[in-house]
Amino acid sequence: MKLRIGSGIDFHQLVEGRDLWIGGVKIPHHKGALGHSDADVLLHAICDALLGALGLGDIGTHFPDTDNAYKNIDSKILLQRTYDLITAQGYEIVNIDSTLCLEAPKIKPYVEAMQTCIASILKLEKNAISIKATTTETMGFTGREEGLVALATCLLSSTNS
Ligand code: MG
Repeated sequence: MKLRIGSGIDFHQLVEGRDLWIGGVKIPHHKGALGHSDADVLLHAICDALLGALGLGDIGTHFPDTDNAYKNIDSKILLQRTYDLITAQGYEIVNIDSTLCLEAPKIKPYVEAMQTCIASILKLEKNAISIKATTTETMGFTGREEGLVALATCLLSSTNS
């Protein structure tokens, strides 16, 4: 069995007047993530992990933020297209582990909905998608609620044994 590992990281500012999309789920909050797309930090980190596992560049290579086609795009579409790139290379996803880093809001009530959303796009069982969360104990830009971070790691397996 041929295995490949990938990692991804993403950052977005948190600002007033934007929706907060994380893991494909819209979370009620007084601030949202700023970006060219819907700025879904978790889906972007997962896309980068999947692309990185196969040395296919990064999310900016495939979906540049200078391209108006991606303005305010639903990041679930980017994840779907990334999945299509991975499967076209003859790989399937074994599992994804991820961590969100933000001070507020609390993410736990939304984790199951995020897992369901991501699993359906990536054709995985929900338990193959791990989503954890932490704060920086009020330190730094995440602690000041100026931004949020997502990290993701994935394992891919070749479908050509
Ligand atoms: Mg991003």
